Amino acid sequence: MEKHLNILQNYFGYTSFRPGQAEVINNIDQGKNTLAVMPTGGGKSLCYQVPGLAMNGTAIIISPLISLMKDQVDGLHALGVAATYINSSISSAEQRQRLIAMQQNRYQFVYVAPERFESGSFIHALQQTNLSLIAFDEAHCISQWGHDFRPSYRSIVPILQQIGGNPIIMGLTATATPEVIEDIQSLLHIAPANTVHTGFERKNLSFFIEKGVNKIDYILSYLKKHQGEVGIIYAATRKQVEYVYDVLNEKGYAVSKYHGGLSEQERQAAQTAFIFDQTELMVATTAFGMGIDKSNVRFIIHYAIPMNMESYYQEAGRAGRDGEPSNCVLLFSPQDIHTQKFLIEKSEMDEEGMQREYQKLNKMVNYCRTQSCLNSYILNYFQMGSAAGSCGRCSNCLQQGELEDITEEAQMILSCVKRMRERFGVGLTAKVLKGSKDKKLIQFGLTKLSTYGILSKYTEKEITERIHFLLAEECLAAEEGQFPILKLNQKSMDILTGKENVTMFIQDVPTVEKADYS
Ligand code: ADP
Repeated sequence: MEKHLNILQNYFGYTSFRPGQAEVINNIDQGKNTLAVMPTGGGKSLCYQVPGLAMNGTAIIISPLISLMKDQVDGLHALGVAATYINSSISSAEQRQRLIAMQQNRYQFVYVAPERFESGSFIHALQQTNLSLIAFDEAHCISQWGHDFRPSYRSIVPILQQIGGNPIIMGLTATATPEVIEDIQSLLHIAPANTVHTGFERKNLSFFIEKGVNKIDYILSYLKKHQGEVGIIYAATRKQVEYVYDVLNEKGYAVSKYHGGLSEQERQAAQTAFIFDQTELMVATTAFGMGIDKSNVRFIIHYAIPMNMESYYQEAGRAGRDGEPSNCVLLFSPQDIHTQKFLIEKSEMDEEGMQREYQKLNKMVNYCRTQSCLNSYILNYFQMGSAAGSCGRCSNCLQQGELEDITEEAQMILSCVKRMRERFGVGLTAKVLKGSKDKKLIQFGLTKLSTYGILSKYTEKEITERIHFLLAEECLAAEEGQFPILKLNQKSMDILTGKENVTMFIQDVPTVEKADYS
């Protein structure tokens, strides 16, 4: 539409819309509730800012992050747009003033946190305001199937009816599995046909898994080879952040740190220093980054495995928002899985919630262990794009070395699982195959099995690697839980009956340096 293109050019100085933007904006223009699913950096903000500017009335943007609000409002002010935010970071007198100004329809955009809807005076003010649209940013937070469920977000839904005025409802997210999308659609009354899904693939990102490396040495050597590049190193715990930060600081790097143990002031200062290029490296926990618009991040290194694929993709996706080639490296060591399991146990989730988290963690672990294309694994996980295929950029696609046919070993492993009556986990199965003298095997009567010691030529570690490989390739299943129990699936049967072969790279994965962008 002409008027929208004019707004894009006159206010924002851009010449054309990015994929999906025009479609979302046209939907809004036609008064349809709309869900936008676009990758990080896809340009979601413009999807509500352009129609918000084109319409009469006030657009309410609900966002879970206070830091994001201020940046967005500052950005709009710079364009000469009347906008504000109402949240706990301002005094109650100031909040009241802004509410009054909102009721007088003096703002085109008002940013609020979901908790604001718990306030009666805010709801009352909304009822008095001429509303154009209500946008739910980070809309996946509304769904309990999502990885970042916020009950306060969901409780807005029934309140919407009380507001009146028929504002158009929008949802925006960069991470949503099909069930989360369905949930958002039904909660926000968005027809599936009004969901604009541009896909998640980020062709400028290359994914790497590095196994068995000394992590800090790896980071130092990476930084040496990528001098001057801006990057974020994500760690799983505050302690890890402090450690990596100290090492880098000592080596003279311009580095910031960010985690929940620092004061609000310290965090703000770290964030500002990084955003404005005073420091080029950020070492942080997952607390850092949501809503950060920094386009020149060239690499994301995960010091340890994240909790699930959603978090991983969201964090890794902060690289390369400017479209330039960027690397996402995950330093994998199996011990780190325990940290994540511990965090799940410590959480206050009910049993069902915990099982769901374990299941997600297992998928994350499989990502680290698969030998297939990492990009395809991600697309499959989010059920986007083709199942097969290889990106030619990830560590698995760049894998060099011999593919070995391990069908026979796979059959031995699978038949051992069968003989163990599908009742045990990886550790014990590996011990049986190795022919270990572990007392537990005698206790469970496992030394009598015909598969006992059948793979004794391998070390227990090598057998374990192969079992994990079979799991990652879904040649074998695991009953989800804290200690997954091995189970056979259809693919296992096909392998056992010789209908399917199994091949595996036996060498180590290459380093990120082998990536070739030409
Ligand atoms: P998201 O919220 O989807 O992660 P943003 O809305 O923050 O992404 O947009 C990412 C960057 O892309 C911003 O710097 C934004 O100004 C820019 N951008 C958005 N739409 C366009 C466009 N049509 N043309 C050029 N740049 C755009």
